[in-house]
Amino acid sequence: MAADAAHTPSEGRTDGERELARLFALQKEAYAAAPFPSYEERIANLNRIIRLTEANEDAFIEAINADFGNRARQETVIAEIVVTVSGAKLTKKNLKKWMQPRGAPTPLHMLPARSRIEPQPLGVVGIISPWNYPLQLALAPAIAALAAGNRVLIKPSELTPHLAETLKAAIASEFDESVCAVVTGGVETGQAFTETPFDHLLFTGSTAVGKRVAEAAAKNLTPVTLELGGKSPAIIDESADIETAARSIAHGKMLNAGQTCVAPDYVLAPRDKVDATVDAIAAAARKMFPAIDTTHDYTSIISDRHFARLKSLVEEARDRGAKIVEIGSSNALYPQRKLPLTMIVDPPADAAVMKEEIFGPVLPVLPIGSTDEAIAYVNKGDRPLALYWYGESDAARDKVLEKTVSGGVTVNDALWHVAQENLPFGGVGKSGIGAYHGETGFNTFSHLKPVFYQSRFASSALLHPPYTAKTDKI
Ligand code: NAD
Repeated sequence: MAADAAHTPSEGRTDGERELARLFALQKEAYAAAPFPSYEERIANLNRIIRLTEANEDAFIEAINADFGNRARQETVIAEIVVTVSGAKLTKKNLKKWMQPRGAPTPLHMLPARSRIEPQPLGVVGIISPWNYPLQLALAPAIAALAAGNRVLIKPSELTPHLAETLKAAIASEFDESVCAVVTGGVETGQAFTETPFDHLLFTGSTAVGKRVAEAAAKNLTPVTLELGGKSPAIIDESADIETAARSIAHGKMLNAGQTCVAPDYVLAPRDKVDATVDAIAAAARKMFPAIDTTHDYTSIISDRHFARLKSLVEEARDRGAKIVEIGSSNALYPQRKLPLTMIVDPPADAAVMKEEIFGPVLPVLPIGSTDEAIAYVNKGDRPLALYWYGESDAARDKVLEKTVSGGVTVNDALWHVAQENLPFGGVGKSGIGAYHGETGFNTFSHLKPVFYQSRFASSALLHPPYTAKTDKI
């Protein structure tokens, strides 16, 4: 066996692993036979994604609803269907431009040679997706990878089995499996996936699992994009309109019941405006969801384990004396795993809710004395995936932008920078490595190959040995 032979998963343990090995070999072979799909073939693949998303809209809505217990229909339509289709359309519109070789200036002493950067498909790309937006987070990276001319294998989360099966069938109805396919299975299939020598692996999930993914991929030197989580702060400046900030934060935190990687995790509010902030967020939440026990517009928590985890974060803070403000609490909610928005006012610094990503509708609100204090608080923790800043003071805003490092920022609202497809989306530090969306996604899944076209009039032979006194002068 060659010393640098690829590290591959132990074969044949589960159905998922056997299927993975088969599909990977098939796609590798197909890639070797046709390594550079044309513009037309890529457009056809993007059209397949659009068709399968639109044709299966109702089936996807139903499957995700079944997986969550209750998933607001409009949330699935907007955050899964519309986002996917518009991402594919934007990619189609720009693909010709992105595929073009890019010029690079050639220094005077190298002329008349020419230099170019030529985007090239990487080969077979693996995508591991989470349960929280199970369609969007499987298909958005697939769109970028297919646009860049790759073949794609997707491993959805085992926590959304209905969606995983529906997606598998939908993809199979449009794609030859040598181009794009879904592998279902549990954590062991996920592990085998990360040990497979893909040409690039994009993982969306928790920071803890992301570390394991990076470790396993490193055995093959498989390049990874890690889209992870973290504690994303919402900073309300002295200069902010509290009602406007509160509406935005309540929406960002209650969309998908807070199970959004870029949801505001906690709020930093001016010390003398904490009560007003809590009241305004409560009012905004009540207005959006006047009856959360009966409405289908409020999404359930994905599993009993996550439900219990979120409840225990609240109980620990309550036991330690923090004030708890629960909006629209009712026991009728619990069998549906609906958790009302629950604010925790000024929890102890070492409370569990301030140490881990919350990923649910639990919202700590902390008093803060100044912009500097807010910056210091954010910088004490890991670099967050998102940061939200609300206010009118340009000086305070710029200070926060300059002195904090986060994956992305929305000023005076929440979540929007992620929806803007022309902005790169990704984390930094513990919240992720690499980025995608728009042209950044195309570049992530391409080898941007530098090519130097030497001129036949070149004088580089002057540098060849034997070295002479003349060469020393160059
Ligand atoms: P998770 O890390 O538990 O699982 C993600 C995926 O990894 C699933 O498909 C799972 O089956 C698989 N997996 C689990 N263990 C594995 C292993 N050892 N090896 C390989 N694969 C394995 O995450 P989750 O609970 O599904 O999602 C929630 C997390 O994802 C949150 O932390 C959230 O912030 C993050 N997230 C990030 C983004 C982003 O774009 N940055 C988007 C959504 C969610």
